[in-house]
Amino acid sequence: TPAIRAVNLVKIYQSGRGLPVPAVRGVDLTVDPGEFVAIMGPSGSGKSTLIHLLGGLDTRTSGEIWLDGKRADTLSESGWAVLRREKIGFVFQFFNLVTNMTVADNVELPALLGGASPRHARERREYLLGELGLTDRAAAAPAQLSGGEQQRVALARALANQPRLLLADEPTGNLDSRNTRDVLKLLSRVHRQGQTIVLVTHDARVAGLADRVVSLLDGEIVDDGAIVRRRGPG
Ligand code: ADP
Ligand code: ADP
Repeated sequence: TPAIRAVNLVKIYQSGRGLPVPAVRGVDLTVDPGEFVAIMGPSGSGKSTLIHLLGGLDTRTSGEIWLDGKRADTLSESGWAVLRREKIGFVFQFFNLVTNMTVADNVELPALLGGASPRHARERREYLLGELGLTDRAAAAPAQLSGGEQQRVALARALANQPRLLLADEPTGNLDSRNTRDVLKLLSRVHRQGQTIVLVTHDARVAGLADRVVSLLDGEIVDDGAIVRRRGPG
């Protein structure tokens, strides 16, 4: 069963006046469990729209989305909220951290909401903040952090609940090269541990970690570069 599958997915933005904007035009995409797919393409090609559709943050115009073999595009907003709590970690471009909670609480919250014990949530938070070089920022409020730190906290939060699927929109978009390296290391580590990842990136180093790079142009997949990795000799 694919981790996520889009079938003839279409999103047309209807603005009040002016012409409708077709942002995603008939995308078919299948991602297997444990696979790491990078979505690339020029600005305006529909990457953000596609990743938002896959996480239920935007409603499709037509087409189907399947998560773990279950139809998801027909879910209500609250149905998607449950999916995002239980199965999907999402890293947004604008972080969406809870401003009146500490970094530690921001990262622990999804695990606690997902039913983890306080001890397990704390251990997972300590691990993730450690991996991302944020241990000494745990007691800070998001507003005290740099953009790069906020972005790494958002990644830690998305992974806190050990989601079946990690979706990310430009997870290294605002990072300098050292912080990018920490994010790359963590992404490749969780990928080795079996994490399914679908992300949008402009960064060739991020795409270089992926099993597959899917290229969008004008809302369509123009290249689905399935790379068959050789596993061991033979
Ligand atoms: P990318 O992430 O590749 O830059 P987007 O998905 O942001 O592309 O945008 C795809 C197209 O849809 C663009 O033409 C963009 O202007 C348009 N678009 C994106 N969001 C909206 C919106 N909320 N309303 C109208 N048009 C939008
Ligand atoms: P991205 O880097 O993801 O393409 P944008 O700067 O295009 O981001 O979009 C930022 C926000 O503006 C998003 O929420 C997107 O949905 C919205 N947006 C993008 N293009 C349009 C548009 N043509 N009309 C209305 N909203 C848009």
